Amino acid sequence: MIQIKTPKEIEEFKVAGSLSKAVLRRAGRMVRPGVTTREIDQVVESFIRLHGGVPGFKGLYGFPSSICASVNEEIVHGIPSDRVLVDGDIISIDTGATIGGWVGDNAWTFWVGRVSTEWKALCEVTCDCLKAGIEQAVPGNHIGDIGFAVQSLAERHGYGVVREYVGHGVGHVMHEDPNVPNFGKRGRGVRLEAGMVIAIEPMITLGTYRNHTLANGWTVVTNDGLPAAHYENTVAITKDGPVILTQDSNGPWLPFQGGE
Ligand code: MG
Repeated sequence: MIQIKTPKEIEEFKVAGSLSKAVLRRAGRMVRPGVTTREIDQVVESFIRLHGGVPGFKGLYGFPSSICASVNEEIVHGIPSDRVLVDGDIISIDTGATIGGWVGDNAWTFWVGRVSTEWKALCEVTCDCLKAGIEQAVPGNHIGDIGFAVQSLAERHGYGVVREYVGHGVGHVMHEDPNVPNFGKRGRGVRLEAGMVIAIEPMITLGTYRNHTLANGWTVVTNDGLPAAHYENTVAITKDGPVILTQDSNGPWLPFQGGE
């Protein structure tokens, strides 16, 4: 069932969105060659708790950490570890924070040191896919309009669109109805209404979108070992258009380059 939020609730929601973005910004500043994904996770967890929040992912369905840290061919749900980031990697960090009874959810793929032009382009286009999806998040449109916008832009560049993992409604819990696929047809699916809050999160691959889960039961990787990118914002659908809730005083977007 889709939960409709009142304008007052959407205002309250901005606190969780703002903290979630600040956390992701903090994580991005740590991204550089030599850092481990576990170190980033530990700083993020402290940051969230220091600001009165609770990590949104820790314990969710049994996930062990406060961030998902997915490097290169890892698409989503990477578990922070002693893996050391090296020059040329890309890392997708997904952070969520609960505060004031609402959950913010956002993700960003950062560049580690000097990244190849081909991999940078994958990130830039995936971020553009997110923007294209958000533009469609207006009352009267359908979920399929979002998926169509994301898919058509990604495929125009020859990239793959992951099918098995999708965006979702967000509210008092991380995952609510409806599902928000990154593929679809115009005018199909749930009709969007003011008061819906959804996480839009394109997961786009350089090669095949086919994927599998590693033996740890979490980390999803591409079958061909080529990289994936993942950008996400939590967005409220309002009569005045889409409002990105995951934004702090510096806005909803982050530098691509880690360490900045
Ligand atoms: Mg999400």
